[in-house]
Amino acid sequence: MLRRIFSVIFLVGLLFAFPCQAAPIANVRVTTIAGMRFVSLKDVAAAYGLTLRVPFGKKVYLQGKWNSWTFEVDSRQASFNGTAIWLHAPMMKYRGKWMITQNDAKSIVDPLMRPYAYLSGRGYRVVVLDPGHGGTDTGARGRRGVEEKRVVLDVAMRARVHLANAGFKVYLTRETDRFIELDERAIKAARWGADAFVSIHLNSAPNSAPKGLETYVLTDVGYPSTSSSARSRGEKTSYAGNRFEHSNTALGYYMQKALLEKVKGEDRGLRRARFLVLRNAPCPGALLECGFLSNPAEEKLMLDAKHREAIALAVSKGVIDYFNAVKKARVAAP
Ligand SMILES: [Zn+2]
Repeated sequence: MLRRIFSVIFLVGLLFAFPCQAAPIANVRVTTIAGMRFVSLKDVAAAYGLTLRVPFGKKVYLQGKWNSWTFEVDSRQASFNGTAIWLHAPMMKYRGKWMITQNDAKSIVDPLMRPYAYLSGRGYRVVVLDPGHGGTDTGARGRRGVEEKRVVLDVAMRARVHLANAGFKVYLTRETDRFIELDERAIKAARWGADAFVSIHLNSAPNSAPKGLETYVLTDVGYPSTSSSARSRGEKTSYAGNRFEHSNTALGYYMQKALLEKVKGEDRGLRRARFLVLRNAPCPGALLECGFLSNPAEEKLMLDAKHREAIALAVSKGVIDYFNAVKKARVAAP
């Protein structure tokens, strides 16, 4: 009986913690500029009870008790609680007001401020890890000859151990060094009833300078990917993966945050791309770039089993944090 009373108190407590209500930004005033819908950061701050500060004129800080954001004028790069997040369109100053698109407020700010509002319909048992490339497709290759396909398979197998130990059902799209088509990866994830799909890759750049960690989720319909120029209009096609756009943001954030925590590389942020595995993902999906093989120091790190283990721990932590958020959201849902 006592247990039942405690669980009722717990549930009521959660309802207070996660009141079911319309998105705070739903009531924020919209300004249309050159055909695009914008909201002011001052109104966004007010909607979430955050304080807006602009100490140096170029950067805008929104600060609350638990959460903080930074935005930069004419830049797509923002940050949430210290993790870099790329917006679909630059923050801009218009008639003395700092503005972001209504789309970024809805599909990036709101899901990170209130993940529970979007995750209650999601599952939290089955994760599909997708080691990139394989077989004749070696992926990136460093100067020392380290191959992406081998490192990412090792990382996926290590992450599987941690996730299975935590009680989750884990599938790998490949367990050996063999080629699989990109289409086949998403088809497998669908067949296995994936609740989260995480593709694991290593990066490469034309020169040796770039280094660090990136997480990609699918670009919103009609917006340019992170690597596109600011003026690019972006594709109008809506892919299967676009159904999960709020959950994708949440999953991507947890993955990037875990990478930074466990691997400790440069934060290149939560980014947007229309990679085929993300377009076709049958569930929330993210693609990780866990370091640059074109950077000699990072290539060398990949030879160290301890470093690969750190990446694997990051993969499992990101997934576990996401699944925990889903679990919480389901308990709080009416
Ligand atoms: Zn790759």
